[in-house]
Amino acid sequence: MSILTTTRPKKRTPIDPVGTKHGGTKPVLPANTTEAIQQFQDQLYSLSVFAWLRWPDGIKCIHCGAEDPGFLSTRQIWKCRDPRCRKQFSARRDTLLEDSPILIGDWLAVLWMVANQRGGVSSYDLKELLGVTQKTGWLMLRRIRMAVQYLHETGTPMPKRARTEAERFARLTAHVLLVSNEQLAEEEAAVDAGKPLSNPFARRGADRTGLRSMTDAA
Ligand SMILES: [Zn+2]
Repeated sequence: MSILTTTRPKKRTPIDPVGTKHGGTKPVLPANTTEAIQQFQDQLYSLSVFAWLRWPDGIKCIHCGAEDPGFLSTRQIWKCRDPRCRKQFSARRDTLLEDSPILIGDWLAVLWMVANQRGGVSSYDLKELLGVTQKTGWLMLRRIRMAVQYLHETGTPMPKRARTEAERFARLTAHVLLVSNEQLAEEEAAVDAGKPLSNPFARRGADRTGLRSMTDAA
């Protein structure tokens, strides 16, 4: 055996950020907005948070429902291990982020702020804090609000119980992830056609939902 083969570094197994082996692993969530903005700049961490909120009982193939898909770390997507399926899918697929070019971490930071800023979040805030354009910020807020409205109208209210900032963020994010892009497009078309985009939480106090000033740049 040559010295080259013995000294060559071992090929490292890529870290599986989402613990697909035994289902989604609960990530440690940020404690406050400052931490959230900072930590959600890490896109792999953000993906693990997103995947956990989407599949709290473990990641399943969106095509056939098989558990424990393989994670392709270079492309950050999953591939079904079932020999009859073997299809690939991203975490965004069939969610309201499906066609969005915005980073998952930026979406999570916005959801954090919407869930926790009592005075509401404006597109100016997002421009300031995340560096997205004001138009992008406005579109993100609108999309979140439409998802909440759609769920409200179709009889899926957001669970009420949440004590910490992290819990409020997790609750809102898991909630809006129930809306597919298709359903959102439906809602969007109705809003564009003149349907009012109301605050679904008005009765519970708009100040506490963070959704109050979402129309600032309309
Ligand atoms: Zn499958």
